[in-house]
Amino acid sequence: MDLLSEGLIDELEQFDMNEMADAAYWHAVEELQSMPGQYRGASSYDVVHIDNGELLGTISRSIFNFAKSEPRGAYSGYDGKVYSEPDGVWLSLGISRRVGKIAGLAMEMNGCRYRLIETERMVDGVTHHPLADADVYRALVDAAQVAQEERDLRAFEKLRPHIESAAFCICPECLDRFGARDDCTTCAGKGFVTKPAPAGLR
Ligand SMILES: [Zn+2]
Repeated sequence: MDLLSEGLIDELEQFDMNEMADAAYWHAVEELQSMPGQYRGASSYDVVHIDNGELLGTISRSIFNFAKSEPRGAYSGYDGKVYSEPDGVWLSLGISRRVGKIAGLAMEMNGCRYRLIETERMVDGVTHHPLADADVYRALVDAAQVAQEERDLRAFEKLRPHIESAAFCICPECLDRFGARDDCTTCAGKGFVTKPAPAGLR
């Protein structure tokens, strides 16, 4: 139903509703930025032990394979699969359904905790590796901040996946805030830090 043509609301109210939808979107964006990463079906991950950094396996576009070859079902080309279900994201291994529970970029399975490290992400059908160039990352973050201030949704949505999957993240101490950043010892005034990588990797 077209509310305008129905004459139920005038143009001013329409404007307010758009503003509200807009405000809700940007609020969600801000929430997202303060949250650790989320599992994405279009990405690839290394699954590593939180305690010792040991590589358990990889997830590539929802398909899980153990790093070490373990006996595998005769008719299956892979070891497991990740499912996004209404009550969360789950890893199933063969006939063992829902053995690993994924929350954010952490997974709990058989009492062990693992971390998911993004290694690849599909953006508009193109595979991107996490951005590792600090200067480019800074430029993207600055561009995203401008897009956010100008409420330029299209520009922001183009930048966001590259920023999220980068090897860096906004400094947890100063949050890249003007003023606090300059004196910050955690990031040495850069406003961002390298994402923590588990011991023994790379
Ligand atoms: Zn800082």
